[in-house]
Formats: sequence, structure tokens, C-alpha cells
Amino acid sequence: MHVQGHYFPKASSNYQQGVANIRDTLVEISHDDQLISSYAISDITLTSGLAGLADELRFDDGSRFIPSDVNYRWPFKTDKHDLLERLEKSKWAILAAIIFTPLFMWLMLYKVVPAIAVYSVDTLPRSVVEQMGEQSFTLIEKLALDESELPIDQQAKVQQHFNTMLNELSLEPSVYRLSFYKSESFGANAFAMPHGRIVVTDELANLLADKPDALKAVLLHEIGHVVHQHSVRMTAQSAASTIVLAVIFGDLEGIAEVALGTGATFAQQGFSRDMEREADSYALIQLEHLGYSSNDFADAIQALQSAHTSENEHIEKVNNLLEYLSSHPSAQERIDNARK
Ligand SMILES: [Zn+2]
Repeated sequence: MHVQGHYFPKASSNYQQGVANIRDTLVEISHDDQLISSYAISDITLTSGLAGLADELRFDDGSRFIPSDVNYRWPFKTDKHDLLERLEKSKWAILAAIIFTPLFMWLMLYKVVPAIAVYSVDTLPRSVVEQMGEQSFTLIEKLALDESELPIDQQAKVQQHFNTMLNELSLEPSVYRLSFYKSESFGANAFAMPHGRIVVTDELANLLADKPDALKAVLLHEIGHVVHQHSVRMTAQSAASTIVLAVIFGDLEGIAEVALGTGATFAQQGFSRDMEREADSYALIQLEHLGYSSNDFADAIQALQSAHTSENEHIEKVNNLLEYLSSHPSAQERIDNARK
């Protein structure tokens, strides 16, 4: 059997026309009836085997023979050849690839990478969290906070409640810091930064001025966010997924943006509902533990809800940065849960 093609000698970019001839257990390559080389079939690798591509012979000394007819298939088989052709012809293999490739991508992006990110959060040095929190806080302060106009003695009273709770819960006062700000954009509100700074607006302190225990419930909810590292987790998750996407799509400049923009991400997204529930249940458990009632929590939500409903009628919200009620589970659900 004579097969026309090209012979590529080892370690050379030159090639020559030739004829391959199969004789017993050998393949002989010749040119103008002049024998160039002969190889044992058992030492030959078939490298292609895919439809539309020539079935290339690869010899163990590194030289190759490629048939001119791309559809020609050698009458002998090797394992490699067989497997490739079977795979290529198998509809199921293709279908599986179509289904599992996106599934794999999705799993990596939304499950595996965020899980690794969350895990790595626990190993994050305290100084990194501190820096991240303080940077985001500076941003929020510029955007939405004004100097507090709360009377000093009113501030001192809330501060004292806060300190007492920290003490009773054995929480570090250098981590959990309370700040007061006036804020038109947030209204009656409280929020916690990743590193433990907790902000109470003048509007909230005034709203709950005659319900000190309800204000404690709100503070406990915010402490819960810090204890469970919600904002660090959320930032790490979204940053990790964005970095993976940037790597996949080759947008490496995007990574710098992610690294710089983590604070803004945190501010815009608010917490997930699961995180809010976790902070709520932290507050309810600790209220009980400190000898207060979970009704204090329900009172706080109720007061906040009515404050925000009446406020929305005449103040158009500039943005929904960290809005206390919007990112939380429905107020009624939380009130019912607390009153149970
Ligand atoms: Zn919350």
C-alpha cells in the first residue's frame, strides 16, 4: 500500500515529498523509489485522528509523516488515535462538555472562589481589616455624614450604654467604637464598618431618645454584623469573583479597580438577607443574655419603620447607601420574629 504525503525529518524544518509503504510490521518512507527510513509500527504514534485533519504519523526518533489526503486513515490503530476519534464522534461527550463547562465556571465563580475568600477572611491580618474599614468610612463620611449636633450629655449616655454592653459581652473596646453623625441621606439609621466602627445618626438617637433599650437593640444588631465579619466577607467574595472574571476575560486592569474599589462595593451593596437575619438573631440572643427583652428590638424596628415611612413622603432619597431598612428583611417579619 502506497500513501502519498510529506516527510519531516527529525529536528529540521525542511520536508520532502515521499511515499509511505506498509510492509508487515514496518512503515517504510521512500522518495523516488529510494528508501529514506523505516519504522516499526509498534513504535509509531498517531497524533491526529480528528475529522478534517490528516492522520499524522509520529516516529520515535522525532520525525513525522503527514499524508496528503486529509481523510486517509491508517489501517493500524494506537490507543491515542482511537480515543480521540471516539470522543470526537460521541455526541454525549460534546453534550457533556457543553453542559459541564458553564456549570464548572459557575461553581468556581459563585461557590468555590467565594468560599475560599470567606475562609481566607479569617486569616486576614487585623491591620488590613482596619485599613479597609477606615478607608470606606472616610468615603462614606465625605458623601453622607455631617458633624453631630447631638448634645454632649445625650452622646455620653448612649456611649455609656454601649460601653456597658461591650464589657458584659467581653468585646474589645478598641475594636468596637461608637461614632455620632448627623445625616440627611441616612435619616434615622445605624451602620457598622468592617473594622468595628459603629455609626449612630443624630436622627436615630433622637428617635429612640426615650427608648434607650430599643437603641441598645439596634447597637447589638450592628455589633452582630461586626462579630460575624459580614462586611469583610461580602467584600472578599465580590472582590474574589471579580478578579476571577478579570483573569478569565484578560481584563487585568480591572483587578486594580477591584482592589481600589472594595470600600465602595461594600457601601453600595448593603448586606445580604441572611447576614441581616444573623445580625438580628445575634441581637435577640444578646438582649436576652443581658436581661433585656426581645420586645425592645421589635420596638426599635417599629419606630424606625414609621420614621422612614413619614420621612420618605417629603424627602427624596439621594441614594440608598446603607439604608437601614431597605437592605433588611421585611420590617414586619423582623418584628414578628422578635415578639415571638
Ligand atoms: Zn443590619
